[in-house]
Amino acid sequence: MEKKKQFKAESKRLLDLMINSIYTNKDIFLRELISNGSDAIDKLYYLSLTDKNININKDDLYIRVDIDKDDREIIITDTGIGMSMEELEDNLGTIAKSDSFNYKNIDNKDIDIIGQFGVGFYSAFMVSKKIKVESKKYGSDKAYVWKSEGASGYTIKECKKKEYGTTITLKLKDDDDNFNYSTYLDSYKIRELIKKYSDYIRYPIKMEVSKSRLKDGSKDEYESYEELDVVNSMIPLWKKNKKDISEDEYNSFYMDRFYDYDKPLKVIHSSVEGQCNYHSLLYIPSHLPMDYYTKEFEKGIALYSNGVLIMDKCADLVPDYFGFIKGLVDTEDVSLNISREILQQNNAVKLIAKSIEGKIKKELENMLKNDRDMYESFFKTFGMQIKFGVYADYGTNKDKLKDLLMFYSSSEKKLVTLDEYVSRMKDGQDSIYYACGENNDKVDNMPQVELVKDKGYEILYLTEYVDEFCLQALTTYNAKKFVNVSNDNVDLNTEEEKKELEELNNNSKDMFSVMKDILKDSNVNDIRFTNRLKKHPVCLTTEGDISVEMQKVLNALPNENKVNAKMILEINKDHPIAKKLEKLYNDDKDELEKYTKILYSEARLIEGLAIDNPTEISNLICDIMAR
Ligand code: ADP
Repeated sequence: MEKKKQFKAESKRLLDLMINSIYTNKDIFLRELISNGSDAIDKLYYLSLTDKNININKDDLYIRVDIDKDDREIIITDTGIGMSMEELEDNLGTIAKSDSFNYKNIDNKDIDIIGQFGVGFYSAFMVSKKIKVESKKYGSDKAYVWKSEGASGYTIKECKKKEYGTTITLKLKDDDDNFNYSTYLDSYKIRELIKKYSDYIRYPIKMEVSKSRLKDGSKDEYESYEELDVVNSMIPLWKKNKKDISEDEYNSFYMDRFYDYDKPLKVIHSSVEGQCNYHSLLYIPSHLPMDYYTKEFEKGIALYSNGVLIMDKCADLVPDYFGFIKGLVDTEDVSLNISREILQQNNAVKLIAKSIEGKIKKELENMLKNDRDMYESFFKTFGMQIKFGVYADYGTNKDKLKDLLMFYSSSEKKLVTLDEYVSRMKDGQDSIYYACGENNDKVDNMPQVELVKDKGYEILYLTEYVDEFCLQALTTYNAKKFVNVSNDNVDLNTEEEKKELEELNNNSKDMFSVMKDILKDSNVNDIRFTNRLKKHPVCLTTEGDISVEMQKVLNALPNENKVNAKMILEINKDHPIAKKLEKLYNDDKDELEKYTKILYSEARLIEGLAIDNPTEISNLICDIMAR
């Protein structure tokens, strides 16, 4: 007898979970094995279409499910490409999917997740105590059998098998208090499962019509009397009529096909005829894919040419800003033999991509209109992508995307659209005000925000690093310009107030020039009194296009050339500190220096910026405290 081999460590872990599964939905094992069979037939069929030497008759492509009540066995046969000895070893000794799902850190309590996630071949161990896989690779004259009783390992040896393809024999577990495994020996049950989970499989799934006449026959007679029928409708889900598809079918297809443990947020199913012809089944996931922000993430949707998969992730079919979309497109307009290089220039692909983009956008707009909660949930998950889309490619797509944007509003205390903001604007208001910071609470406490809010203006709170770049790319919305409340061009004053402030600043010109000299090594461009602060003594504002937040973001990038925002130190003209500064300017220049440094540091801290010389500043403060 040949040596027993051990499963790879991570496979063993999953295997244990499968064998000892307390998971109730054991039914899925059949779906998994049938879909493997269908994939294997796809591979062979595809080969035959691209290689003239391979002659495959369409009638030879099928999956067959048999039940042997006496031996408590379910036998699943496919006429697919089969596996060589090495492939049996590689494919069934390890888990293929470990890259898309981390099985290693799974607890027993997560078993539900595994059950919903496509677990593949190993799920057969949920119901079997022994599994036998006999396989003959197409074109080879040798066949091999893989056998395993679970965790103890597996064996592989040569065997006899007439036809190419794979036959899997499951020896069912014995019934116990928790589960009646014999239920799978009932052909009605198996038919029901095929109908439920595998109806759309493109190849016929055949079963015996009736066993009654075989009762008293020997095994040989049974073979010759057999009468098979096809259990599945063979119509791919995406080619079916929408009204014939249940939500459950849409969802389980999604979870199975795209390896998600959660239902999708939204299904977009369409059939298009005209300039381009296609069926598409697209999904908006309900959460970020695990690898979304890693370089491993590949956007794209599957491309089928009249039912045959040509590419699993066709990136050209979806724009980057909708890169989170999962799904597939099936079209007769693209030929099977199309190469990846040519896809990009292919006119049909371009037309389909454009049409799909329109569908996704429309769906999102409808969601925003009709199901606000769902849209907010979408935006919280994928809004970043839309914002990127607005400023990527020099803003080429900004007009398409601007109405999908949402930001937190100071007055509504929730996410609002730009359109909603503009519709609420006060008479004579010509700007859309925004403020930037780490989170809504911090922004809400910014000195610059206070007065703008007090005067009754709504402010958008920008808390993600892309936000301000996104608004800058738009520059305006409905002819209203975007204005950062921390920018010196915020103008909320009456002519009279302006004049008064100007006079005040003029009178203190000399003092400010001394103070500027004290701060000459910083990037403070100007110092002045302001009336934009209510209670707060100081703040930093900026002049020009680069705000403090943008400076932070840009300088965090791996870039040699650091940018500097042009900062202005503004001092509340009504705060007692204003009078104090004037007094020090006249009486005590040394003291003025200390105060100036401390005020500037305070303003930096409020902006979330580090101070240049913390020890010096803390000593200065203590000096003053100790008096
Ligand atoms: P997945 O199907 O998601 O890749 P599985 O664990 O179900 O994961 O299968 C692992 C691999 O074993 C498959 O990718 C395929 O290469 C091979 N395989 C499984 N079943 C069959 C089959 N019936 N015929 C040919 N190859 C198969």
